[in-house]
Amino acid sequence: MNERSEIDSTDHTHGVTRRTILGVGAAGAAGVLLTAGARPGAAVPASYNRMWDTIVIGAGASGLGAARVLADAGKRVLVLEARDRIGGRMWTDRTSMGIPIERGAELVHGTTVSTWGLINQLGLATHRQTEIHSRLTPTTPWTNAFDFESLHFPLGAPSYPNGLPDPVDGETALAWLERVGIPPENYSTALAAIEVDSEQFDVLPAWFVVDTVVAGLETQDLSGPMPPEEYGDYRVIGGYNQVLQPLVAGLPLVHGARVHTVEHRAGRVDVHSSAGSFKAKTLVVALPGGVLKHGDIAFDPPLPADKRDGFQEIEYLPVFKGILEFAHPVLPEDHPLPRAWDIMTTFSKNPPSLWNGSVGTPGYGGEVIVAWMTGGKAQELLDLPEAERFQAALDNIRTAVGDQGLQYVNASTYDWSKDEFARGAYPGPFSRRNGLNAPIDGTIFWAGMVTSTIHSSRNSGVAAANATLAALALR
Ligand SMILES: Cc1cc2nc3c(=O)[nH]c(=O)nc-3n(C[C@H](O)[C@H](O)[C@H](O)COP(=O)(O)OP(=O)(O)OC[C@H]3O[C@@H](n4cnc5c(N)ncnc54)[C@H](O)[C@@H]3O)c2cc1C
Repeated sequence: MNERSEIDSTDHTHGVTRRTILGVGAAGAAGVLLTAGARPGAAVPASYNRMWDTIVIGAGASGLGAARVLADAGKRVLVLEARDRIGGRMWTDRTSMGIPIERGAELVHGTTVSTWGLINQLGLATHRQTEIHSRLTPTTPWTNAFDFESLHFPLGAPSYPNGLPDPVDGETALAWLERVGIPPENYSTALAAIEVDSEQFDVLPAWFVVDTVVAGLETQDLSGPMPPEEYGDYRVIGGYNQVLQPLVAGLPLVHGARVHTVEHRAGRVDVHSSAGSFKAKTLVVALPGGVLKHGDIAFDPPLPADKRDGFQEIEYLPVFKGILEFAHPVLPEDHPLPRAWDIMTTFSKNPPSLWNGSVGTPGYGGEVIVAWMTGGKAQELLDLPEAERFQAALDNIRTAVGDQGLQYVNASTYDWSKDEFARGAYPGPFSRRNGLNAPIDGTIFWAGMVTSTIHSSRNSGVAAANATLAALALR
């Protein structure tokens, strides 16, 4: 949901040229997603039997980010995608509810990320989340995430005359917070929010929470709005997947091509898929870490042991995202929060966090509310029958709104861990990342895998493409 740690946060906007933007035309603005090349179910053109400069496996943000750069550099590039749609874990659903909903990625993490360039060039409308309110329990007061109060300890700041003790090796956040005398009922809402976006404190390493505790101690005498910051989360009105248009425009792409085997040697790959076999001088693998960890692709000869070990150490985080549609805005006029709210979180509920997936959408009379949780408590929800997941989300919404009779008209959820082309949502704090992107024989390059945002995924694709271009230049 919010920014997470990244292996690659470099910003490369040069992956998109004016030519590719113009090629998209009005379709992008209308939110109609066109993909180039073979349509789902269509026969693969005979010409695809050629020797390609590069094959890219995976048409998510990583793979399309890579393919765009390669195609713009004049290389013959083919994208192979197992699904009948592009986007991977970015999945805008335009049919289930009154407005487009996001079953995967939803937020753009600030205006400085590389994908913001695509939004600007397409002229897409966005909504910034500014009304973010949290409370520890249904009976404690709401605090605004942009006020100093969100960092304060509700029962008073603890004091450390000899300094705040450092975490010891292997200490969990819960153990450290207990040791330094901060019980859950004295968590600041900023501290409690860390569990919603990562893992629960009985699992999370202590160093994840230290800065927020220190910030609370340092600002306990301050109140009211914090200084404004550039960073913020934005939703793309009309569907996030519009940003893929400039990346995919004009690319040869085969849908329904589930790759199962890659034969490789220096300067040559033969890629075997459910839609046939294809050959190239180089390969960019832009697959989720979960798919590689599961061993869905056989490499012949097998990859070096350190690469295989790296895959095994990738840990994806359980994520619960339940989306409920209401026929009307849910907050009553006399509610303490603004009617154009963005996020309201009650930490004692599961799922705790509710965000408004429709605020800022012109002409829409209903309200779409996304209930969110990550980590072990998300898994508890995913283990429930679907109807009970929605009931848990509804219970939090009803309590937040103060209307026990409130009822939704549509509901949707998706368990990414059960999706065979994702095998998880995104990496948690424990994924080992060193060396995962090292190329094989100057021939196989890697993108995505452990990226946890759209922009970092695209950036990793751009980096893989640049490395591929350098290798092709040597041939
Ligand atoms: C619920 C959820 C919420 C998220 N929220 C946000 C957010 O708000 N903001 C944000 O920036 N990020 C968010 N993310 C993370 C973001 O979606 C991912 O980091 C990003 O989409 C990963 O892109 P990718 O291209 O690396 O992988 P993917 O998008 O998964 O693309 C990989 C592609 O490979 C294909 N594939 C898989 N197996 C094969 C095979 N054998 N052969 C051929 N093709 C195959 C898949 O079908 C897929 O299209 C969220 C993710 C989830 C799941």
